[in-house]
This record gives sequence, structure tokens and C-alpha cells, in this order.
Amino acid sequence: MQSILSVSQVSKTYGSGHKALDHVDLEIRRGEIFALLGPNGAGKTTLISIICGIVTPSTGTILVDGHDAIRHPREARSRIGLVPQEIAVDMFSTVASTMRFSRGLFGKKPDQAYLDQVLKDLSLWDKRDAKIMELSGGMKRRVMIAKALSHQPEILFLDEPTAGVDVSLRRDMWKMIGKLREQGTTIILTTHYIEEAEEMADRVGVINKGQLLLVEEKAVLMKKLGKREMDIALV
Ligand code: ATP
Repeated sequence: MQSILSVSQVSKTYGSGHKALDHVDLEIRRGEIFALLGPNGAGKTTLISIICGIVTPSTGTILVDGHDAIRHPREARSRIGLVPQEIAVDMFSTVASTMRFSRGLFGKKPDQAYLDQVLKDLSLWDKRDAKIMELSGGMKRRVMIAKALSHQPEILFLDEPTAGVDVSLRRDMWKMIGKLREQGTTIILTTHYIEEAEEMADRVGVINKGQLLLVEEKAVLMKKLGKREMDIALV
């Protein structure tokens, strides 16, 4: 299958001298759900931030749908939707205006029919005119996904989408992410939870101390390493 994202020999050493990523190679297939699994400080957010053009790598190259993400970050970034760990939106704005504003930032023509469909898909239609501060925590998380989808990206990054949420909300998020994939979006999520990788992903990458230790089809990985061994590896 054709790669939509190629990460080649990407390293990052922060100013403090800390090596957060060490020669990472990764190919993401169009249309898959890929889970990047690793403990705190493994380098997951750093890798996502580099791909999204937020952090500059020390070495390496990244191609997003054939576009060089370091030399032509705008071309690459317009193909990516990012849902960061933190809820980062203007709490005084409405859901619908947040999406329209976000789409405009990417220079995309208005397309209310598309934005309405995203709102419906994420069960936010009834809340489209609500101020974000009025929404529950679960809804705010869905707004972050809606915002990330507003410019019709081909790849959606979800950085620890279910960290700190209860079991029922986690299941809702999994359903929603599965639905987005069915619509053709390539999904890359980071997680600490093996259950999440097992439930959601087609393939799983395990990262620790800045090194991508392995990338496997989920079924192969789960067979190779029992849950207990994986838990130990992730401590
Ligand atoms: P978590 O699961 O806790 O979010 P992570 O796998 O996303 O962790 P990163 O946030 O990428 O890990 O951090 C990787 C390493 O780089 C950590 O040791 C972290 O302290 C360090 N680091 C991250 N950002 C910076 C920065 N701006 N300056 C210096 N060091 C940083």
C-alpha cells in the first residue's frame, strides 16, 4: 500500500542537550489507523510536533503525501489535522465559528456543507451555536477533533486522545475515530494504553527513550508480546 507519510532518520536534540528522538524511520499507509505506543517522555509528542512543523528536527526528512514537510511546511501542514493533548480553543467562541475560523487559517474556501457534516458526525450538531466554555469535557474534546478536521486534512493526529477520560467516554472516542477512518482519513494516535492500541489500530509502533523499537501489524504484535510483557516494557 502507498505511504501517505514517510519519516526518515529523524532525530531531535533539544537545547538542553536532551536527545528526544534518535534516527526514527516510519512509513504510514494511506487509510490506516496507526498507534504510537510509549511511556511518558518517550518522544511521541516530539515526533508529532516535528511532522506538524511545530518543532524543527535536528536531522532527517519528512514527506507528507509527497511534500517535504521541512522545506514546504505549508503544503504539508494543510494535509494534516492535529488534535493536541490540551484543549486549546477560544472558550468564548461558538463551536461553528471556531471551525470556520480554523478552516480560514488554512486558506480554504468556505464550505458550510462540509463543516455541518463534521458537526453531525461528531454528534455536535445540536451544540453548534453553543460557546465552548458551556460544553462538557467530552464535548470539548470532540470540538478539538472538529476543529482539526475543519480544513479537510488527509491525516489526523490525535495526541493521547483519551488520556484522563472515563471508560464510557473512551469507548465513544474509539467509535468516533473508527468512523473517521471509514470515511478515508488516515489516523495516527499516541497512547499509553495497550488496550487502546489493541482496540483501534491496524499497526502499532512502540517508542521508548526516543527510539522506535518496533513497528508491527497489531495482531502480530499482540501475539509476539503478551499484555503483561508489554505492560512491563512500557514502564
Ligand atoms: P508524554 O507521554 O509524557 O506526553 P511523550 O512521549 O510525548 O511523553 P515528549 O513530550 O516528546 O514525550 O518528550 C520527550 C523528551 O523530550 C522528554 O524527556 C521531555 O522532557 C523532552 N522535551 C520535550 N519537549 C522539550 C523541550 N521543549 N525542551 C527540552 N526538552 C523537551
